[in-house]
Amino acid sequence: MYELFENPTVIQKYGGTSLGDVERIRHVAKRIQETYDSGVKNLAIVVSAMAGETNRLVELVAEVSSNTRPSVVDVAVSAGEQVSVALLSAALEGLGLKAEPLMGFQLGVLTTDSFEKARIRKIDTEKLKQAWAKDCIPVVAGFQGVTDCGYITTLGRGGSDTSAVAVAVAVGADFCEINTDVDGFFSADPRVVNDAKIIPKLDFEVALEMASLGSKVLHTRSVELAAKFKMPLVVRNTFKDNTSQRTIVMNSSESEVLESPVVSGVSSVKNIAKITVSGPSHQAELISRLFQQINDCAINVDIIVHDRLDDEERVKLGFTVEESEFLRVLEVIDALKQTERLAQLEVKSESNLAKVSVVGLGMKNHHGVAYKVFDTLNTNGIDIKMISTSEIKISCVVRSEDCDLAVIGLHKAFIG
Ligand code: ADP
Ligand code: ASP
Ligand code: MG
Repeated sequence: MYELFENPTVIQKYGGTSLGDVERIRHVAKRIQETYDSGVKNLAIVVSAMAGETNRLVELVAEVSSNTRPSVVDVAVSAGEQVSVALLSAALEGLGLKAEPLMGFQLGVLTTDSFEKARIRKIDTEKLKQAWAKDCIPVVAGFQGVTDCGYITTLGRGGSDTSAVAVAVAVGADFCEINTDVDGFFSADPRVVNDAKIIPKLDFEVALEMASLGSKVLHTRSVELAAKFKMPLVVRNTFKDNTSQRTIVMNSSESEVLESPVVSGVSSVKNIAKITVSGPSHQAELISRLFQQINDCAINVDIIVHDRLDDEERVKLGFTVEESEFLRVLEVIDALKQTERLAQLEVKSESNLAKVSVVGLGMKNHHGVAYKVFDTLNTNGIDIKMISTSEIKISCVVRSEDCDLAVIGLHKAFIG
């Protein structure tokens, strides 16, 4: 791929498993050396924390105190990337290369101040250009940034992909390479579906939908950024050589869109909870009150189903949230019920759910997809709790224990 460009500028990102131990870090350093020696002199590396390290830090903070301020959490959880930067820089120098280790704040990765889920606003490219001018390879800490006031932030779990794409966009790279522990972007998680197929070329729109519906091989925001700035992404395996299969995520031509498969992939996400609130229809104000309060608590609501039958005097509203937000939502509803006018609200809730989705551009021009989804889930004895659709996806909420079976069944039905 590098040979397709003259003096290419490339950003390579290495994930946690790729840097999981000393041997792997040395392997990654050799791979970087090969890339550099092949003529890619404008090369910058973005790294994640070593596998398991961010989880360890998250748990450690939770153990010390259950209500640590997010800004303090970020100081701890961003530390994993710092260690990776140092170890990989040391490994590169051990090979005789010059490395420039850079934390987010040193590079100038400016973010919003929404701690634990900050968004990158701007990246200063001066340090990268200076490093290249000195024949150094910058090694940048992913996942972390800094606010205008100098506070450390993190970008949300899996956020190193976003750091890499943001750096690529800032320096106008030819492409951004996401090196990970699988061969590319597959038609389903290859750890769930044994015969999932690698997708050699994937449109931004499908990649974005699949990532946001649970295909965690790419952080959702990284695809959003790449799509916005038309930055091609190459997803490939750290442990395989240059000739091995991979995925290129880029814009499809019009004819490619027309020929797109009806379903390109199946995604799933676990740890979802569903809440259903019903009450007399004259209490429709409950909907806006409820959502206002949930919004004030910065809780993200996903699927919403509103039901009001003309011949019934009741209004019914079902919605899903991440399981980690479940208790807080119930508290908000309880508080609402304390007010006299909303006392008659009836609330039902269910946790341990999952959302399974089929995604494909071809769905825009084909019918019968919904029928096939329901039929497949029915045949497998899987109860559908909720449904949501868009132009290019159909999502069903099912019990968590049925999630993998649903993914395998839908993959078999649509992809083979
Ligand atoms: P990294 O540490 O390199 O960032 P992640 O664990 O974040 O890696 O993402 C890679 C993992 O994503 C794979 O090991 C795989 O289990 C999972 N995954 C989920 N859906 C897909 C998919 N559609 N294609 C490829 N991998 C997927
Ligand atoms: N280390 C961070 C995490 O585990 C960021 C990343 O790996 O992309 O979420
Ligand atoms: Mg990741």
